Amino acid sequence: MSAPSTEDGALALRVYFERPMIRLRLKPGREASVLRRHPWVFSGAIASTEGDVSGKDAGIAEVVDAGGRSLALGAYSPESQIVARLWSFDGHAVDAALFRERFASARSLRREILPPETTGYRAVNSEGDRCPGVLLDRYGDAAVLDLTTGGTETWAEELESAARDVFGAQRLVVRRTAASRDRGERPEPPGRTGGEDPAPFLESGLRFLADLSRGQKTGFFLDQRQNRARLRALAPGARVLNLFSYSGAFSVAALSGGAARAVDVDSSEPALQLAREQRRANALPAADSDFVRADVFEDLRRRAEGAEEWDIVVCDPPAFAKKKGDVPRAARGYQDVNRLAMGLVAPGGWLLTCSCSGLVDADLFQKIVFSASIDAGRTFQLAARQGAGADHPVSLDCPEGEYLKGLWLRRA
Ligand code: SAH
Repeated sequence: MSAPSTEDGALALRVYFERPMIRLRLKPGREASVLRRHPWVFSGAIASTEGDVSGKDAGIAEVVDAGGRSLALGAYSPESQIVARLWSFDGHAVDAALFRERFASARSLRREILPPETTGYRAVNSEGDRCPGVLLDRYGDAAVLDLTTGGTETWAEELESAARDVFGAQRLVVRRTAASRDRGERPEPPGRTGGEDPAPFLESGLRFLADLSRGQKTGFFLDQRQNRARLRALAPGARVLNLFSYSGAFSVAALSGGAARAVDVDSSEPALQLAREQRRANALPAADSDFVRADVFEDLRRRAEGAEEWDIVVCDPPAFAKKKGDVPRAARGYQDVNRLAMGLVAPGGWLLTCSCSGLVDADLFQKIVFSASIDAGRTFQLAARQGAGADHPVSLDCPEGEYLKGLWLRRA
């Protein structure tokens, strides 16, 4: 079944969305988290699913308790363990008007918190902006709308038009990354095989490039803005080793802050290519030897054999744990890479070590890093903890939204 076609698109959508097609009846006692406005409903909490699950508008779900009382409305993702992500707890229809309202509220937060000369930022942060399953990243005149769940993918048209209305980007790329995530796969690998030029934008006056369609995430790691700023401030005169560099944004920040040298290490050639372009865009040095295509673990072992020393090492790997079962292996990975990285830090130097695995919480990550320091035989002070900036807000209703951990460690 499709939306009624009329000249008055907004009215038609309202009618379309107001009638939930799927009813998810919870098992007795499983309503507590919904009553606390937690936006996730796990498949294990569902007693029965009623309605036409095959319909085109099956994207909308009404969640009812065991007795049939309506509790919430949300996006239905039958393929995912999180079978519904909830958008409305007060009976408000999930419709084009709600999308616009939520986007406008997200936009007003950004107006309050962004640093000057910054045109690249996360404009809508999923659960953190009460838009579960929707990310919107802004890069200058361009924007990327990333629909990360099956449910929000079925609302693509309406979300896209609300995004155009509220954010007014000249170029809007829509990415649908739900299917791969639902299967527990990584989002598509990076790689530029032609196509459109990356979108230019500013962050605190520095020039960056986001590869919108094929880059990692939506093309750039906006969540590291605050750590880039701190690195820039610490950088004067420093030799910086940037591990898992992707497009080398940390190095751009360090060099613009006065670093003597910055070396990017990544396994992806297209990422390193973009890193070169970003340095050139900022008139920063870009010698061939500053870009090393290698496996970081092997590269670190080679550097250890050469007894190298660096003033600042940045270690920002991809998420090692994608699902619960990965956590023990991920912990070993973090432990290894941190032990090796610590071995290269000069006395009085710094290690910024990060984890973006939501499943490895801040406590566990700090324990892993501590144990790496014991194995490395090195003493470090934890000088600061810093995660994502205020354009990545976390809803108190959904603390799981806080995924990025960054520890600033100074070698004693
Ligand atoms: N620090 C980056 C983001 C890192 S994303 C930034 O601030 O922009 C993770 C990066 O690690 C990706 O670019 C990926 O290509 C790279 N990568 C993943 N596994 C790797 C490995 N074993 N060795 C080297 N690079 C790796």
